[in-house]
Amino acid sequence: MSGAGDDRHLKPASRLVRGGRRAEWTGPVVNPPVWRASTHLYASDAERQAAGGNNADGQFFYGRRGAPTQWALADALTGLEPQAHGTVLYPSGVAAVAGVMLAVLKPGDRLLMADNAYDPTRSMATGLLARLGVETTFFDPRDLDGFAALVAGARGVWLEAPGSLTFEMCDVPAIAALARDAGAVTMIDNTWASPLGFAALDRGCDIVMMSLSKHVGGHSDLMMGSASAGKRWYAALRRVSHELGQVVSPDDAALAARGLRTMGVRLEAQTRSALRIAQWLEAQPQIARVLCPMLPSDPGHELWRRDFTGGCGLFACVLASDDPAASARVADALQMFGIGYSWGGFESLALPIRPADYRSVMPATDGAPALRLSIGLEDEGDLIADLAQALAQV
Ligand SMILES: *Cc1c(COP(=O)(O)O)cnc(C)c1O
Repeated sequence: MSGAGDDRHLKPASRLVRGGRRAEWTGPVVNPPVWRASTHLYASDAERQAAGGNNADGQFFYGRRGAPTQWALADALTGLEPQAHGTVLYPSGVAAVAGVMLAVLKPGDRLLMADNAYDPTRSMATGLLARLGVETTFFDPRDLDGFAALVAGARGVWLEAPGSLTFEMCDVPAIAALARDAGAVTMIDNTWASPLGFAALDRGCDIVMMSLSKHVGGHSDLMMGSASAGKRWYAALRRVSHELGQVVSPDDAALAARGLRTMGVRLEAQTRSALRIAQWLEAQPQIARVLCPMLPSDPGHELWRRDFTGGCGLFACVLASDDPAASARVADALQMFGIGYSWGGFESLALPIRPADYRSVMPATDGAPALRLSIGLEDEGDLIADLAQALAQV
């Protein structure tokens, strides 16, 4: 769905509230209604034929092109992303990764992928993309000279900042500029920061994707992904999405839009708690290292401060223990943190992680026991007390 209304001059908090709520979609109510529809009916066959020849966004045609519920969500997301012309919705974040890759890459192309990309994204490169004849080279995104030496001849560059599990920052504008000079397309997974925390297209990326299952949904009850881009890449994303027959359910789109309205205040609260908890963890004898670019002590902090306007509740810590089972013992001892995948919900989660399993060229955490925490909206003092009693057990 392209276009983003006339709210570009407003601050993000206002755009979160107003986005996608066009009068022609909402009618007299506040939220765009849930249009459950496969068939769109036409008043006459002449109207059907006219609709078929009109490939524009925001036109009734057939359920696979969505209806106002999905259009409103896509429109609101476009409005949050400076420089975006349009947004495509996908049934999951991983489906969005696939949609972006297939819009950019063809057999014979070379892809450069940041080594700290999300594990299923890495698997897509070594699996699906390899089978299609795309060759992937993993690189350390902190090493600009190393990247500059690799980029000639690459068709695409895949970034994630901060990276999954280990949260290293990279210089996105510098990498995107080198890629552009070399004729490569820069794609970025911006799930961690969301457009509220990092304006990826504005900072030189060509396509930005997000798992909406995390911050946008925000309530651990839906799966969805998105990709936004300027005019040229939006057209390519949309075409491939139509070719693959991808569509999201109107019920989930309505839930995601509802989540979006409160994303700003949730992220602010979660960022504040996460920072305090990360600082508290840093001072605990059972913790060797906290991996979180929002911390002044983090090696990525300067880049984060320079380029990002916000954070979130997700970070990791490495335990000062050589017992590989220590992170599972801490997770089991926690009372207020669920053990589970995903993150960005209203509830806190803890996940024992082994980043070294998902790295080719970057040093991970040397196999030391580590824990990823997603800080929710609970009282931060209660969460710290829970962490204290759980850490006391290792
Ligand atoms: C969860 C996640 C995804 C995938 O999203 P799903 O909606 O779970 O398919 C992609 N990238 C990152 C960084 C994620 O954390």
